[in-house]
Amino acid sequence: MNQPLAHTILIQNGNLVLPAGVVQHDLLIQGDTIADIREHIPFEHTASGTRVIDARDKYVLPGGIDVHTHLNLDIGIARAQDDFYTGTVAAAMGGTTTIVDHPGFGPKGCSIFHQIAQYHEYARDHAVIDYAFHGVLQHLDETIIEDLPKLVGQGITSVKAYMTYDHRFTDEMLARLLKTTAAEGILVTVHAEDHDMISANRQACVRKGQTAPRYHAQSRPPESEANAVSRVIQLAKDSGDAPLYIVHLSTQQGLDVIRTAQAKGQPVFAETCPQYLFLDASSYDLPDLEGLKFIMSPPLRSRSDQSALWHGLSDGSIQVVATDHCPFDFALKKRLAAHDFTRCPGGAPGIEARIPLMFSKAMTRQLTLEQCVKVTAENPARIMGLYPQKGVLAQGSDADLVIMDPDRTQTITHDLLHENVDYTPYEGFTLAGIPILTMVRGHIITENGQLKATKGFGTFIKRKRCGGKIG
Ligand SMILES: [Zn+2]
Repeated sequence: MNQPLAHTILIQNGNLVLPAGVVQHDLLIQGDTIADIREHIPFEHTASGTRVIDARDKYVLPGGIDVHTHLNLDIGIARAQDDFYTGTVAAAMGGTTTIVDHPGFGPKGCSIFHQIAQYHEYARDHAVIDYAFHGVLQHLDETIIEDLPKLVGQGITSVKAYMTYDHRFTDEMLARLLKTTAAEGILVTVHAEDHDMISANRQACVRKGQTAPRYHAQSRPPESEANAVSRVIQLAKDSGDAPLYIVHLSTQQGLDVIRTAQAKGQPVFAETCPQYLFLDASSYDLPDLEGLKFIMSPPLRSRSDQSALWHGLSDGSIQVVATDHCPFDFALKKRLAAHDFTRCPGGAPGIEARIPLMFSKAMTRQLTLEQCVKVTAENPARIMGLYPQKGVLAQGSDADLVIMDPDRTQTITHDLLHENVDYTPYEGFTLAGIPILTMVRGHIITENGQLKATKGFGTFIKRKRCGGKIG
């Protein structure tokens, strides 16, 4: 599967974003891994056939790690349009080198291995970057409890439970699950929304004819997130401090609850997404049903929630920015939901824009470059059991990296992107720098917008136990 590329690559003069700070150093890659990082690595000392990349005035970051994607997701009425080929090509073009995908639900009553086997099949021979999976839970019985530790043996050290939707976990089920995962060191990731509150609101909206996109947001108020976050945090605490990871956090109220638990030393991690950091609920009122583009759960929030999330990233109470990439064509959303938001497939694309958007915020000093790397690569790698193989530029780590050119400003338009969907929520956003080269295990995947990797180059990564300490 290896490509016919130079075995040794020397990246010279780049501004490397290391955990200790940004330094102008050389970086030597031999085979799949980083062999050396030093102020000056003489070319003469490298093997013949070494390719030299001059990264002067560029930034070299650890490859992005997106721990919340939905490739090939089948939701019954539609299938998310990126598969493991198109989705990982888009990811690589955007500077992401590893994903941890959340498989969709399988047939009713299926074992926890069913969807994993299915997703191995989807990804194998398709992905161009490395990938891993979370387990997905859709019911709970003695068999599931017994099988959870076996999942760890397969390199899957986190599972997802939903507090809403058809396969939702009740508090009782969560309590039982968390007791097991606390004992086994498995990380439970939770979609935290209060199902009863939301379904009552949705029914009321439909009854009153409130079916425009904006009512999607109104039917899922901030309390619906905060209540669920609060309940599951209490359940995790009662279980003996099972490590807990809240996916796609969107509100200040939810964040406040998480901060309180973290301050007491409870192992609770939080993830937010670019859509909650860069967009807000005013998008639901755009003309011509454009609001449907932004139907996702949880919904977009207020500007004040948005700034609370940025504070959460700065002070470390939110550790991860992942995408929840789940693309459906605007055309499809309009066809299904022009007259009723409750019929709209929920989700939006973002896998390609995440790193450039966050990098741009670092260039405009909204956060430091080190923080940008922490939340997009290092922390997700640590929490999800990929570190230090992934998530850091260090000797011995996989040579997964992205070179960013801060002098190339660009306006995001849909036709510049590689996601297999007919719109981007970030249309018109200005980027202060773009990825010009993405590398996975020493192999160039994309260079200057060209795909260099062969389909299927990406490999499954077995993860270690999660919940590592966050530096
Ligand atoms: Zn999701």
